[in-house]
Amino acid sequence: MATAEMAVEQGLGPVAGCVQRQQASTVCLIVLGMAGSGKTTFVQRLTSHLHSKGTPPYLINLDPAVHEIPFPANIDIRDTVNYKEVMKQYGLGPNGGIVTALNLFATRFDQVMKFIEKRQQDCRFVLIDTPGQIEVFTWSASGTIITEALASTFSTVVVYVMDTSRSTNPVTFMSNMLYACSILYKTRLPFIVIMNKIDIVDHSFAVEWMKDFETFQDALNQETTFASNLTRSMSLVLDEFYSQLRVNCLQIQVVGVSAVDGTGMDGFLQQVADAAAEYETEYRPHYERLRQDLAEAEVKKKEEQLEQLRRDMGDVAVDSSHVHANVNDQHDVEAGPSALILTRGILEEDEEVDSDTDDLDHQKAEEQSEEPAFQRYLEQRKRKSSTTTNK
Ligand code: GDP
Ligand code: MG
Repeated sequence: MATAEMAVEQGLGPVAGCVQRQQASTVCLIVLGMAGSGKTTFVQRLTSHLHSKGTPPYLINLDPAVHEIPFPANIDIRDTVNYKEVMKQYGLGPNGGIVTALNLFATRFDQVMKFIEKRQQDCRFVLIDTPGQIEVFTWSASGTIITEALASTFSTVVVYVMDTSRSTNPVTFMSNMLYACSILYKTRLPFIVIMNKIDIVDHSFAVEWMKDFETFQDALNQETTFASNLTRSMSLVLDEFYSQLRVNCLQIQVVGVSAVDGTGMDGFLQQVADAAAEYETEYRPHYERLRQDLAEAEVKKKEEQLEQLRRDMGDVAVDSSHVHANVNDQHDVEAGPSALILTRGILEEDEEVDSDTDDLDHQKAEEQSEEPAFQRYLEQRKRKSSTTTNK
């Protein structure tokens, strides 16, 4: 049986087949959603589902404040950053601590990328669980850094988890969808909306609202709250947005699941297959350009730094004419600024290593270096005393 067919039969869709052919099509799933929507439970459920298919995923936890994670994370932000310590050291509250912890982690994300790259042969899926509070990831520099790092190397899909049982009110549904849209525009990545908790309430009402604008308007008309006026205006924006997506051939894929009982997991994997294929055709060129731009920007930055260094050295040469008179500075001026910085760095390192264990050697060195001067001093004293005794 062909590889792709086998993959479809396993419920993994054509992407999994592609993975085996191209060997590099690892798919990263960034799981986002409001606090309590079921992100972590979904990652746990998907993990056990993938295990049962013989394709265990690579798991990353980016929530620094979670007590326990119900899946075996390969990389856990809590192993690198202690957010409570961050709170203490920077004098922050819980939210500030979480944001700063993620920022600190993002500065090391290149190392995470290397880990993923090493495992991409045996892991088709990389699942990334994000902090409970959605804005920590979606509206922070660290979220952008992490998303762009992943998307410029791997097929990357955003999975937006929605609590269906809490979205039965058209106003709440509206807010959730607008949030999803803003993330879609921000990340520029294929997007799957997971309508979670369908064991509590079926998601068909929500799909209907998305497909049929009239039905949604009817539901809104039954709302008499002050907020519903705003929602009516916003719903026009959303309808325009849905049609824009259709015109641009972009789609928000919607799938109903229950992270608790596992319903809808195969349907979800099918959506992932489509989304990953969409990434390859629609989004990869953009991210490849981004990567090229970043590489070019990096080269340009290095050239500028070099140029700056040359200018600085030139300045020092000019400055040295003023300093030249000072004989004691002569050595430093001749050595040049870079040599000085390097020497300082090395000295500092040596100092750290030496600390107190090498005191004896230090003394010896000092004695040796002072010996000729001391001998000269003794000779002077000798001469002096001999002239006084001769007198
Ligand atoms: P997160 O903050 O988005 O990571 O949400 P969690 O995964 O921690 O889930 C929040 C709560 O929702 C927990 O009590 C879960 O047991 C519950 N939950 C998650 N998924 C489902 C689901 O599909 N059905 C039901 N009934 N409860 C769920
Ligand atoms: Mg969670």
